[in-house]
Amino acid sequence: MIREKSTHAQEQIDQTSNYKEVAALTKEIEGFAKRLEKIEFETFKLLERSDKIKTVEEQVASALVRLNKQDAELLEEYQGQAAALKKEELQAQQEREAFEKALPEDLAKCYEKAREAKGGFGAARIEGTHCSGCHVEYTEGQIAKLRGGEHISECPYCHRLLVVE
Ligand SMILES: [Zn+2]
Repeated sequence: MIREKSTHAQEQIDQTSNYKEVAALTKEIEGFAKRLEKIEFETFKLLERSDKIKTVEEQVASALVRLNKQDAELLEEYQGQAAALKKEELQAQQEREAFEKALPEDLAKCYEKAREAKGGFGAARIEGTHCSGCHVEYTEGQIAKLRGGEHISECPYCHRLLVVE
């Protein structure tokens, strides 16, 4: 539009011989040229910014591709681990049921009761001088009594099934 206006003013100059008119039109053309220069400068700056934005966009896009790939790999790994854990859990459950059946009835009951009360951990063993379940320290007398008794007993504190090794 500015270029058209400038061309039009030039045409008017070509058609007149009036000095004042020529001077006014020339000034107008100079003003148009300055405005064009300013617009070109701003356009250049905008193009520079646009280039920078495009670079960032490309970086973001490639990062997204990379992250999507990682996500898929992690999901696959997680699903594999979850399946393996599920299998282990089933095996452990079957083993536990088999061991429970092998226990005398009163000890099996003691174990079930403790398991329900202690968040799934119904059995413990003597570790040094304390119970591995509740960590209460036994007296020397208690230790002697436990060691002198059955291989499988009951913790007098947490009432878990106690394995005496
Ligand atoms: Zn205990």
